[in-house]
Amino acid sequence: MPHAQKLLPDLLPAEDAATPLMAQYKAVKAQHQNCLLFFRLGDFYEMFFDDAVTAAKALDIALTRRGQHQGQDVPMCGVPAHSYEGYLAKLIRQGFRVAICEQTEAPEDAKKRAKKDGGKSIVSREVVRIVTPGTVTEETLLDAQAANYLACVAGVGDDLAVAWLDLAAGKPAVQTVSASELGGVLARLDAAEILLPQRLIEKPELFEALAAWKARLAPQPNGRFDSGNAERRLQTLYSVGTLASFGDLTRAEIAALGALLEYVELTQKKDLKHLARPERWRAAHVAIDAATRRNLELTRTLSGERNGSVLSVIDRTLTGAGARLLAARLVAPLTDANAIEQRLEAVDFMTRASALRCAIRAKLKQTPDLERALARLALGRGGPRDLAAIRDALMQAEAIRSALFGSGVLPDELAEASAALGEHNALIDRLQRALAVDLPLLVRDGNFIARGYAPPLDELVLLRDDSRRLIAGLQQKYADQSQTPALKIKHNQVIGYYIEVTPLHADKLLAKKDLFIHRQTLAGAARFTTVELSELARKISEAADKALAIELQLFDDLVAEIVQRLPELRQTASALAVIDVTAALAELAVEQHYARPVVDASLAFTIKAGRHPVVEQAQWRGGSGGAGFIANDCDLAPEQRLWLLTGPNMAGKSTFLRQNALIVLLAQMGGFVPAASAHIGVVDRLFSRVGASDDLARGHSTFMVEMVETAAILHQAGTRALVILDEIGRGTATYDGLSIAWAVIEHLHNANRCRALFATHYHELTSLTASLPSLSCHTMRIKEWQHEIIFLHEVIAGVADRSYGIHVAKMAGLPSPVVARAEQVLATLESDPARQKSAGDMPLPSLSGQPSMPMVKAELDRLLTELKPDELSPREALDALYLIKKLSDGD
Ligand code: ADP
Ligand code: MG
Repeated sequence: MPHAQKLLPDLLPAEDAATPLMAQYKAVKAQHQNCLLFFRLGDFYEMFFDDAVTAAKALDIALTRRGQHQGQDVPMCGVPAHSYEGYLAKLIRQGFRVAICEQTEAPEDAKKRAKKDGGKSIVSREVVRIVTPGTVTEETLLDAQAANYLACVAGVGDDLAVAWLDLAAGKPAVQTVSASELGGVLARLDAAEILLPQRLIEKPELFEALAAWKARLAPQPNGRFDSGNAERRLQTLYSVGTLASFGDLTRAEIAALGALLEYVELTQKKDLKHLARPERWRAAHVAIDAATRRNLELTRTLSGERNGSVLSVIDRTLTGAGARLLAARLVAPLTDANAIEQRLEAVDFMTRASALRCAIRAKLKQTPDLERALARLALGRGGPRDLAAIRDALMQAEAIRSALFGSGVLPDELAEASAALGEHNALIDRLQRALAVDLPLLVRDGNFIARGYAPPLDELVLLRDDSRRLIAGLQQKYADQSQTPALKIKHNQVIGYYIEVTPLHADKLLAKKDLFIHRQTLAGAARFTTVELSELARKISEAADKALAIELQLFDDLVAEIVQRLPELRQTASALAVIDVTAALAELAVEQHYARPVVDASLAFTIKAGRHPVVEQAQWRGGSGGAGFIANDCDLAPEQRLWLLTGPNMAGKSTFLRQNALIVLLAQMGGFVPAASAHIGVVDRLFSRVGASDDLARGHSTFMVEMVETAAILHQAGTRALVILDEIGRGTATYDGLSIAWAVIEHLHNANRCRALFATHYHELTSLTASLPSLSCHTMRIKEWQHEIIFLHEVIAGVADRSYGIHVAKMAGLPSPVVARAEQVLATLESDPARQKSAGDMPLPSLSGQPSMPMVKAELDRLLTELKPDELSPREALDALYLIKKLSDGD
């Protein structure tokens, strides 16, 4: 047993660490500077020096000192090799990378080798794998519901590309991005680790997008991103002469994929031939930037929790792969109306076929994670339980396939998935025959092959069991012969089988020297053996060794068969996920009364009785039976594509804005929507901004963030965009804020010409309807009752009565003198002609007259580069925005 190895004598002697072992350690460590090194010493992985200090703190384990190195104590800590996974998980979750250095020969071999060439007997060691946050595959290290991506950003010339891979799924993908899209794509992937060349980190135009991911960036030497090398690497990996069959990959895409796969090879130290071919991600997805994803709380709430996110309330999937696919669809809704229609058709079918849906979901519930079991086995890291997972998943797939087969004409999406489930009866049969009922976690534990599968194995087992029976018989025989009824035959790992009596009876056995051979005497027991017992024990251990060797071979054979069928098995896994997601969306639609939306190429936007999926379900749970949520219509037809929504705090403005954005996303991911009906002309970009959001974590002043983000919208939104602006301009003094909001609405209306919802507490803005024909005013209905106001959460045409702000203050419990004073101030303001004028004026830049374009540019440069964002006064920031607007207008 390799586990029984003791700490070796080549360990650090107490006085000096400059031993061959330390030399070996230092050499390995030198090659893995940016990792914690798990250095295998017998039964432990040990860490030394700074690694030990860091790891002891991160793992909350004891830091010890051992030996001396250059006159200093050597800090050391260690984790047991048999239970290292938990410690590893803890380190990986904290963002560390861990190099695992194993002993690559048995200590006896090292001694033999040393004897031959007269050197020291030091066991050779080698790093067998580097575990990094983006490359883990162990079940214990992964979240079953979420993909774990390694991403890689590369640039060639002006082109940028992002490649990504969930190693536990094995399907690499790549996409071209622009500098301004990068942040959104990284937010979509939410990768655990992001590789990129040092060179790109220094690019100012990427700074903003990368800053949010600082903790996950893993800069690599620029040389790894050479597209020529990358091309050769891909050709070798996939055994193809040219990459033409992968689609028209750009040099940047090739560089990103090549660097990604090189990193995986370097860390896994494994053949990656099992990876699926790279998929080229097309631009047929709604562009959603990072801020919008955050604001809409798609996969996580603003406070970072999964619970309460949109994903958490719409997820009715029953398998890990299904949950991961649902998340992938939600964060990347489609823009191709036909593709959306196909998904909707499948969901619709499932909502109607309730018996089929129930039957399929019952089977999905028992379907293990085929995708991840396959990936682990293909990486040579799987165990007997992964084989069982494949067997069980394939059996369920077969059952689902026949359920679908008997359900008449299927919509395309389901017909395709059903066909992709494939036919695996031969493999199922083989696995069923091969695997025992109770399976160990590790292959090397043996005993996972069922009786009857391999006759030579059965014979060995028979032999072993016979010998055990004989040994059991010996106990009675020896007890009689020595007249010691309490004599026992026992077994332990170190000395194997032995006879044991209490010291009191030892003399009786010692008297029969021809039969009993004394082995050891302990405080409470005397131990003996016999020739016959040793012989039987030897047979048992030989049989066990031989049996294990056969089992290992059988395991390899089964894995080889699976790896050979990997492409079909992967298809089955994907098809199961598609079926799970389709049935889950149908289940959700039925349970929550969602409707099938109409998505087409028009510019329509008609939502009848829309609801907010998260707020609505929270109210269900809150006990109001769901009846508490007030449904609202929204119509952004071209002649009224910009809605200005006024109303006091807490009236429901933000909820209304978000629910419309979410209905679009749900519709375009191919799901039903929380509304009575919805007709949506495809949205290609979605922007959602909330004014005065506290984004202090990113080190900007709130107002500056608002400006930068708003400027991005004004630059990028086209006619197919949907823009949601919630109280933009609130982060500054009244007049500036109002002026900004004013300018933004004009720009959205006249230049962007997109569909937009704008919530504001600046009532002055409603006067814009006079000059902007497609702007319409809406407000939240409110009832006044006994000097209090009641929010009805109902959106109606018109403008809010501005005095409600004071009512709300009163409701919030402000002392009445304060409320009275506020009413007084409001009255003064309303009668102040200067204020009226300011509201009506466009903001003026600090430049006078009609500045030329170069002057505008120069002034903008000055504002944005000379001054730190924090030092920018609201006035200056306002100027900046105005200038940006001028630039984007091109006048
Ligand atoms: P505002 O943005 O106008 O300040 P919110 O959208 O934040 O208001 O809504 C305030 C609260 O009112 C929410 O927390 C929610 O519980 C409730 N609410 C909003 N809209 C509705 C609605 N349509 N039906 C029922 N309750 C609602
Ligand atoms: Mg609000």
